[in-house]
Amino acid sequence: MRLSKMHLKTLREVPNEAEIPSHILLLRTGMIRKLVSGVYGFMPLGWRSIRKIEDIIRQEMDQAGGQEIHMSAVQPAELWEESGRWFAYGPELWRLKDRNGRDFCLGPTHEEIFTDIIRSDVSSYRQLPLNLYQIQTKYRDEARPRFGLMRSREFIMKDAYSFDRDQAGLDRSYEEMYAAYEKIFTRCGLTFRPVEADTGAIGGSNSHEFTALSEVGESEIAYCEKCQMAATVERAECVDAPASSAEELPLEEVHTPGTKTIEEVADFLGIGQDETIKALLFVTYDEEEKENGYVAAFVRGDRELNMTKLINALKIPEHSIEFADEEKMGAATGCVGGFTGPTRLHDCTIVVDSELPGLRNLCAGACKTDYHLKNVNYGRDYKADIITDIKTLKEGDPCPVCGAPIKHARGIEVGQVFKLGTKYSESMGATYKDENQKEQPIVMGCYGIGVTRTLAAVVEQHHDENGIIWPMSVAPYHAIITVMKPDDQTQADLAEHIYNELAAAGVEVLLDDRKERPGVKFKDADLLGIPVRITVGRGAADKTIEYKLRRDADKEEISADEGIARTIEIVNKEK
Ligand code: ATP
Ligand code: MG
Repeated sequence: MRLSKMHLKTLREVPNEAEIPSHILLLRTGMIRKLVSGVYGFMPLGWRSIRKIEDIIRQEMDQAGGQEIHMSAVQPAELWEESGRWFAYGPELWRLKDRNGRDFCLGPTHEEIFTDIIRSDVSSYRQLPLNLYQIQTKYRDEARPRFGLMRSREFIMKDAYSFDRDQAGLDRSYEEMYAAYEKIFTRCGLTFRPVEADTGAIGGSNSHEFTALSEVGESEIAYCEKCQMAATVERAECVDAPASSAEELPLEEVHTPGTKTIEEVADFLGIGQDETIKALLFVTYDEEEKENGYVAAFVRGDRELNMTKLINALKIPEHSIEFADEEKMGAATGCVGGFTGPTRLHDCTIVVDSELPGLRNLCAGACKTDYHLKNVNYGRDYKADIITDIKTLKEGDPCPVCGAPIKHARGIEVGQVFKLGTKYSESMGATYKDENQKEQPIVMGCYGIGVTRTLAAVVEQHHDENGIIWPMSVAPYHAIITVMKPDDQTQADLAEHIYNELAAAGVEVLLDDRKERPGVKFKDADLLGIPVRITVGRGAADKTIEYKLRRDADKEEISADEGIARTIEIVNKEK
């Protein structure tokens, strides 16, 4: 491809809303184009890289026994009602009506559709196992689309679904997909880590996220250097503080004026924050978005509530709970903003973190302005509707597996695999007849990769101050030939010769034949990040060129023939 003919518009300035390198660079290189918030199009270079990622995914999915199909992005509401997700998925589901008022959505994921296919097409154990996948545009009306392709409202996803006879079959399918994901992300040039994950709105039992390590990532992961435990912070289990054997002291109300926070009350009373109880108050909503209850959650004062664990404990969708208006909740439940404790509360669901019942003589709000209670003990002074781990595993906390101090890191979730089990096959009636003619539910798994997010993650991990540094495997082109003076016939001829030789050898090559100053062309070449750069300049008379890899600092003067040979070699090795 000749740059003089290519539809390419690089930018010097990008909008302020682009804050992270991948967003800035994908806009500056003109690879993506914003249409509206969270909706992007792809220009020629961007689309080539997307297709490279898709091809890697296809090859590895096919290798692992997957079969590609292509379903519509438009999905009828009825299927989502069957699975119970028309409500549960919440406002992220991009809903629409046809001219007759029938409800549809633009698919954020396709469990219902694939389960529907299988329940009509599969009837016998002989047809299982199966793995079907597609690469397709997905829609999620995200509350906060941001960071360009990272969290968008329209994005490309590869979604695969496995169908097995039993749990052991699912375990095998899951392992195969897990292994395929490791190959895919490695081939894309990503440094990543598979971590245990929560199953969220998709459901099921086990799950792993594949997280590309990056400071700008929205996923926080907790890991242990001693035993290899790694999980998202949402998911990571915590170790409860050891139960206390102290004697229960009498309950005592103390005047603690103005001490609304844990820090203030602990300082005021001269006790540790770990000797207090922290309250967090929520209101919940029903399917009609009407308030239908209050929740008070309690953790030890120095802990942080883990919202994902709380939602799982309550068995409600993420979107049907939010922080309560304390005054309104107070009138109904007796809580008092800043002074709420688990005693004296009524008419609300009380969720207590698993370690609190074992601790003795804690200090908690008295549900009375400017007062706290000392020596609060579980059983004698308060009870819970639910007791479970609802706290967040913090950096330095003991590892739930081996006890060593936990570390935290940030990353970009590029893929996630789930063992769904029979969640969809049972709610939607997808069964098969086993060897004994007995109906059994099909056991399912599902496996997603964010194709467009993966592109952003690659840029995030491969760039410098001058631009992108593409790994060969996903680079839009392998090599770029920059002609210093396109009007100089010797230079133009040599560049043309190299261009033809490389193209004939299967190298994807760009020829920068634009009538621009060399400085502009070099800047663009760095910005675009094409892995191999060949410069044809004054040496053209002696058939020498300058050869440079984008990722290396040094350049070399070598013969054109050697430049061609080296380029072919490195492209074949790394593509
Ligand atoms: P997140 O937690 O980031 O919202 P998710 O867990 O809801 O993502 P999945 O349902 O697991 O996402 O979707 C599979 C993959 O699709 C994700 O691993 C991610 O790579 C990609 N993805 C999900 N949401 C978006 C989005 N809004 N923009 C771009 N890619 C996305
Ligand atoms: Mg996910």
